[in-house]
Amino acid sequence: MEQAKLESKVLSILEDKIQLIKTSEEGGIYLVGPIRLPVNLYGETVVFRWYCWLQRDIITDDYEEIIEKLSSDNLAEYQQSSVLVYGDFEYNEDALIRMHSICHTGDIFGSKRCDCGFQLKQSMKMIKEHGTGALFYLANHEGRGIGLFSKAMAYVLQENGYDTVEANLNLGFVDDSRNYEDAIHVLKVLRKKPVTLITNNPKKLEALKNSGMHLSGRTPLWGDVSEFNENYLKTKVARSGHLQEEEGCPNG
Ligand SMILES: [Zn+2]
Repeated sequence: MEQAKLESKVLSILEDKIQLIKTSEEGGIYLVGPIRLPVNLYGETVVFRWYCWLQRDIITDDYEEIIEKLSSDNLAEYQQSSVLVYGDFEYNEDALIRMHSICHTGDIFGSKRCDCGFQLKQSMKMIKEHGTGALFYLANHEGRGIGLFSKAMAYVLQENGYDTVEANLNLGFVDDSRNYEDAIHVLKVLRKKPVTLITNNPKKLEALKNSGMHLSGRTPLWGDVSEFNENYLKTKVARSGHLQEEEGCPNG
């Protein structure tokens, strides 16, 4: 099908908000934003700036080519990651960062089997109260990188006595296959100064340290323990090396 040409006005508006931020053998990563995003946070309206990024197999700074291909690429079939930024993120001396792994059941349905939904909202609140920071929402991290369908399978195993780590291993996955590389790259585009990471997960700390990003510290994030997620949280500490509780969603 013949693709419609973009109107020059549309192109000039979009060109101001899109940038090629990374190139590699696989192609380029394109970042769009900021977009003003008022959010309902515990009943209060808080305004974040939202950015989204996308991997494409072509590398170009002719963004017309990128934009024109979007409608034929069936992007809704694939999740994209994004980041919510708050306050003077570029220049403020200390900023709070949260790398949040997507959790369909916890974030969207409010599942009590894990603490993801609580952590998502709580870290947004911490960032707001701190004055500046960013929440990265990582779309390819479902169930610690095993995907939603496999996570459902892992839940079936968990209902039959397997813990979260055993369930993943028995499905042929490594315990944790999450990758933070692209998110850290986006972070570096948005901020050069040191950051404090909201996490209890030493792997996330390591990933950030190894990237060369200046890390000024770590802020733990706990809470929302219930009878439904008690075992899940214990497993995180006992089996996954978590500093206390928390983190990501081991199909959790
Ligand atoms: Zn979860």
